[in-house]
Amino acid sequence: MSFEKSQRIKRLPPYLFVELDRKKAQIQAKGVDVIDLGIGDPDLPTPEFVVDAMVDAVRDPKNHRYPSSQGSLAFRKAASDFCRKRFGLELDPETQVCACIGSKEAIAHFPIAFVEPEDIVLVPSPGYPVYHIGTLFCGGISYFMPLEDKNSFLPDLHSIPGDVAEKAKIIWLNYPNNPTSACVTEEFFGQVVDFAKANNIIVCHDAAYSEMCFDGYRAPSFLQTPGALDCGIEFHSLSKTYNMTGWRIGFAIGNPQLVAALKQVKSNVDSGQFQAVENAGVAALESDQSFVRKMQEIYTRRRDVLIEGLLSLGLNAQRPKATFYVWIKVPEGYSSASFCTLLLEKAGIVSTPGNGFGEPGEGYIRMALTVSQERLSEAVDRLRGIL
Ligand SMILES: *Cc1c(COP(=O)(O)O)cnc(C)c1O
Repeated sequence: MSFEKSQRIKRLPPYLFVELDRKKAQIQAKGVDVIDLGIGDPDLPTPEFVVDAMVDAVRDPKNHRYPSSQGSLAFRKAASDFCRKRFGLELDPETQVCACIGSKEAIAHFPIAFVEPEDIVLVPSPGYPVYHIGTLFCGGISYFMPLEDKNSFLPDLHSIPGDVAEKAKIIWLNYPNNPTSACVTEEFFGQVVDFAKANNIIVCHDAAYSEMCFDGYRAPSFLQTPGALDCGIEFHSLSKTYNMTGWRIGFAIGNPQLVAALKQVKSNVDSGQFQAVENAGVAALESDQSFVRKMQEIYTRRRDVLIEGLLSLGLNAQRPKATFYVWIKVPEGYSSASFCTLLLEKAGIVSTPGNGFGEPGEGYIRMALTVSQERLSEAVDRLRGIL
């Protein structure tokens, strides 16, 4: 038999990290001690108190049954309380919060509620691949908004043609940003609200890195912007904040109609996250956040080791005030791909080619601060040997 794949699968770009993993395995097979600064997956463990909450919850038969697909009320309340303390938001846990199985799940599923075939979705580029892929899965068309240094890696809303803006259903944004590590200004979020209202566009803000901030910076929620609750939904994740990428827990908050639509999709495709995981999430969200501060200190030290090293080698990189990514301009004469290949083959360092996140990322590579300070020093030493 032969099985014909759907157009929506045939149109998929290769998932970035599959290709990277293959190359890394090839080099490792040659016996090279690879330093992996590729994928953004925290290397440190989930805090003990979260693990303990999970262990207790696993033993409770109440949690062994089907969970609620929108998340337990306890989890939604914890998320709402967290957002009140952190961002000053007043969110009704009944109508304005939905749990998700990691924010990637909700980001991929949300467009099903609104995007018709041929509809336009505004997608930042370079960007987290799921915005485009979720669009493709609905038969929609991504209009890529370039994120460029000259605009501080914010999309230029004025450059979006009027007919595109008029037809667009959703605009995706992500600040603090992956992969560029750029941060947003309040003024920009204000412009987004005006743009969305003028064109009847849903604003989807991915806030996966809202807690990974340094040097006293605190990233805003899009929903703090006046008018944002009329047009927006925001996706939060416990993955990066509490080193919980494997657990699959996050939440979406915002406009009640948008949250209800996400819940409607989810109730038809999944049955929610294991309640024991949600209970662990409650422990994390309700904690005093000292763990988060500890992580911020660790990433700050790592960032400084890598940035000082890169700058001393004459490389061009900004010191990020949020996210665990460093966005580096490749030296003259290299492309993203050729510079990544050089680093991997000559220095055993895995980095991610910027154009893997979209064509405007060409000319950059991304390094993730997901190894120890010592390993980052070692990476800098190896670079010194080849540059
Ligand atoms: C890691 C990441 C996510 C996904 O997080 P999960 O909650 O683990 O699914 C979403 N958006 C961006 C930009 C990310 O980097």
